[in-house]
Amino acid sequence: MELHPDCERILFTPEQIAAAVDGIAQRLNADYAGKTVYMVCILKGASTFYSDLVRRLTFDVRFDFMCVSSYGSATASSGAVCIRKDLDSSIKDMDVIIVEDIVDSGLTMRYLTENLLSRDPKSINICALMDKPSRREVPVEVKYSGMEIPNAFVVGYGLDYAERYRNLPYIAVLRREIYAPAACTK
Ligand code: 5GP
Repeated sequence: MELHPDCERILFTPEQIAAAVDGIAQRLNADYAGKTVYMVCILKGASTFYSDLVRRLTFDVRFDFMCVSSYGSATASSGAVCIRKDLDSSIKDMDVIIVEDIVDSGLTMRYLTENLLSRDPKSINICALMDKPSRREVPVEVKYSGMEIPNAFVVGYGLDYAERYRNLPYIAVLRREIYAPAACTK
């Protein structure tokens, strides 16, 4: 597979990503069997993961989408989150799963879980394709995580840098020299 010239190396091939998505789906299918689950996709980064994941789920699923922006540098969030698109429906008394691309400092997920918990769901859990535990600034329980990754900025499979690289079929480490300051990362 040809590596994009702006990338340093491939971290996960499409096959490795598919295996990780399979693993998460198996755990969700075991834990949520027989339930109706409100699956919240966090746009835009989680969209590819979400569409692959939901097709592997065997329980009853409701789709919804949230779009949030985290302000900070181009490659790190500050914890100040703004909701650009909210959920379409109430999640009161629903089992909710937040589907996220990657948990880094944990600030975005902490904000979102607190925000969604205030809407009285029956349960709420985080499902993230990738987790960077070494970067955590606030404790967040990522109950379903596909792959732990080191402290590197990754792109591909839905993840961007400045809206680029989302269509790469693999997940790759972006070359440092490509990074540039910007106000909003999502
Ligand atoms: P946190 O609030 O946990 O620091 O950051 C969460 C968000 O920052 C993720 O949803 C993602 O959009 C973005 N992010 C964190 N690390 C990376 C990364 O390595 N690559 C990309 N493309 N986005 C990242």
